[in-house]
Amino acid sequence: MPLERYVMLDQTQLDIALAFALESRAAARSQAFALKAAQENRGPEARLFRALSASQSVAARRWLMLLRGKIGDTGQNLQEAFQEEMPWKLECYAQWQARTAGGPAKAFEQAGEIARRQEELYHGHSPSEETPYQVCAVCGCPALGPVTERCPVCGALPEKFQAVD
Ligand SMILES: [Zn+2]
Repeated sequence: MPLERYVMLDQTQLDIALAFALESRAAARSQAFALKAAQENRGPEARLFRALSASQSVAARRWLMLLRGKIGDTGQNLQEAFQEEMPWKLECYAQWQARTAGGPAKAFEQAGEIARRQEELYHGHSPSEETPYQVCAVCGCPALGPVTERCPVCGALPEKFQAVD
């Protein structure tokens, strides 16, 4: 159970876990600020926030490495991401959705749907230059290949999907 990794920590490990959470949050927030700046046609500020987000993502990864130790090989990583973490995440979102009402319940429902679609990427076809992975910039819904319809999760316009190289 992945949660067990986080419940038997000493104070230093807790501090490192908090640093990881802080930097992860900051990275996501900077990315949102970059999108907002781009919408406002403020190119330099959009680039600044993208750089900040990239820097904070690296910091988050370093804290994660300290927290968990070495990263396994790709076979082990696929196992961890899709056999261990994904079912646990789906279960969490389902539980949180069930005990929540209103907007947050909808957000948990969408997060569960996105996790299911992330899982499908693993079982689906591989991407190529013509059919790269795409991600909805609004909700994070992943897809494979050109997107021509609204986001199936949040309803965003097709142009909100960005190719991932
Ligand atoms: Zn979306």
